[in-house]
Amino acid sequence: MSIPARPLLAALLAGAALLAGVPAEAAEAASTAAAIDHMDPPFWWTGMHDRRLQLMVHGAAIAGLEPAIAYPGVRIAAVTRVANHNYLFIDLDVAPDTKPGSFAIDFRAPAGSAAQPARYTYRLLARAPGSSERQGFSTADTIYQLMPDRFANGMPSNDSVPGLADKLDRALGYGRHGGDIQGIIDHLGYIAGMGFTQLWPTPLVENDMPAASYHGYAATDHYRIDPRYGSNADYVRLAQAARQHGIGLIQDVVLSHIGLNHWWMKDLPTPDWINHDGKFVPTMHHRTAVQDPYASQEDASNFTTGWFSPGMPDLNQTNPFVANYLIQNNIWWIEYAGLSGLRIDTFGYSDGAFLARYTRRLKAEYPHLGLVGEEWSKLPPVVAHWQRAPTSMPGMMDFPLAEAMRTALADKNNRNTFNDVYETLSLDWLYPDPSHLVLFEGNHDMARLYSLVGEDIARWKMDLAFVMTMPRIPHFYTGDEILMTSTTGRRDDSSYRRDFPGGWAGDKVDALTGVGLTPRQREAQDFVRKLVNWRKGADVIHHGKLMQYGPENNTWVYFRYDPPTRRKVMVAFNANDKEAVLPVARFHEMLAGVAAGTDVLTGRRFDLRKEIRLPANSVVILEL
Ligand code: CA
Ligand code: CA
Repeated sequence: MSIPARPLLAALLAGAALLAGVPAEAAEAASTAAAIDHMDPPFWWTGMHDRRLQLMVHGAAIAGLEPAIAYPGVRIAAVTRVANHNYLFIDLDVAPDTKPGSFAIDFRAPAGSAAQPARYTYRLLARAPGSSERQGFSTADTIYQLMPDRFANGMPSNDSVPGLADKLDRALGYGRHGGDIQGIIDHLGYIAGMGFTQLWPTPLVENDMPAASYHGYAATDHYRIDPRYGSNADYVRLAQAARQHGIGLIQDVVLSHIGLNHWWMKDLPTPDWINHDGKFVPTMHHRTAVQDPYASQEDASNFTTGWFSPGMPDLNQTNPFVANYLIQNNIWWIEYAGLSGLRIDTFGYSDGAFLARYTRRLKAEYPHLGLVGEEWSKLPPVVAHWQRAPTSMPGMMDFPLAEAMRTALADKNNRNTFNDVYETLSLDWLYPDPSHLVLFEGNHDMARLYSLVGEDIARWKMDLAFVMTMPRIPHFYTGDEILMTSTTGRRDDSSYRRDFPGGWAGDKVDALTGVGLTPRQREAQDFVRKLVNWRKGADVIHHGKLMQYGPENNTWVYFRYDPPTRRKVMVAFNANDKEAVLPVARFHEMLAGVAAGTDVLTGRRFDLRKEIRLPANSVVILEL
């Protein structure tokens, strides 16, 4: 049978060759291996923590051939043939002292066979110095999230690409709008200037889906950057340029599912590769069934094996070849592009035993890598579950705390605005390590914060001050710095993901330069720039302890403090329409001997000897 080859395989190899300082010509030999359509991972590295490497080889009747390798340190440990004879799985053992270099994998025809032999030139690269010790994101960082299709169009020539179905259509909320990697590179100075030190673009790998491909969560090739965003080499260039701006790059990965047009779907390796025999059975999203002592097996199984949508086949990670493929693919991108971390989409929707193995392997290869999983639950125990053994995931998105604050600020009639936030925060004892949680004001799946709070900039500021002063890794969603709006009722992704003004030639409003912004938008952007840059240098926020006081009279106060340096920051919220006066006596543990504090946002000095006068509808961040 005829199987289309991955078009950019040779280009991809050439890109990696340049990266590793290996002559590009070395990569060309790969193109002579006509019978091999996919070799995943396409290359690897020497000196990895785990010496095993499993290759998925895909090509017409490849299982009829016998692979052989002659290279010092590299040994074929196992060859596995599966139901589909167009696949071979080769387990390599790479000895720790193996020298970087290239070697042939000869696929030989057995005696008496009429099969054509094949050859693939495989390469083992040298790892970048310090690769395994890379430092991921931490409480010292602030993450900027953007959707590449909607941020900036740096290269109109790639807006529509021959061979990929979904063409440019900016009028369509779910259409492709043309944003790309070059657009992000062009504006790294803006992002760095705002104070952000980590960048989370939503997925950039190929999504050759007929429609709504812009969001990127339906991969059709795990090893290829979607050409409408750029090339694999462009992605590496983004990581390098970001690093030069002091920004780490986080990749958004999906372990649970793929896109219906993934090349696997045309020629599945095994019948059990996709859950429910490759047929659409929806997940009913009963996420608590995974942990519920009273759950039916039916619900627990449905949550992890059901498909996210008809266009997103669900991967069966209990098949060890699926599991290996996903783990190695993630490591490949970390190593290839020099990533600072991963954001794992729909985390709990994957097989639990697989997730435990996944985090164990990634932490073994990269002990300080940034890892954050998405489990969209308002319940802290549900999120905390994943930080506990056996999964022991370092970071999770803090949906409970983020949602508590967003919901609180959306309700102007609540006379005890901060109580749910206060109580949710008090549950931090449930987490093995709350400082690895990522706290956000919004993301690409939620109503815009400014709309949610009724376009009340005072309340919008309260949420941002909160996110930036919690003992968390803060995350900010692009466009909120200029008060972008959305619908707030029924979920409407297109309204949360409008184009960033200034990213397209001819835009009348340019958030990147400030041209055309309203005074209110400029006030908001200045606020974010000041707050995030202040946070960047505020060690007490990065590492200090937290003490909070129960909300009273619709106000809320907490302190960040660091006994060794004696630094202290007081954060005080007043959700009343009039000034609030707080006697300082209650805060004696923190305020004894403190005469005054200065608001980092306004520079205003507050006398703290007897009482604290908080302006109506405000938040202050006082350095004491
Ligand atoms: Ca473009
Ligand atoms: Ca799943």
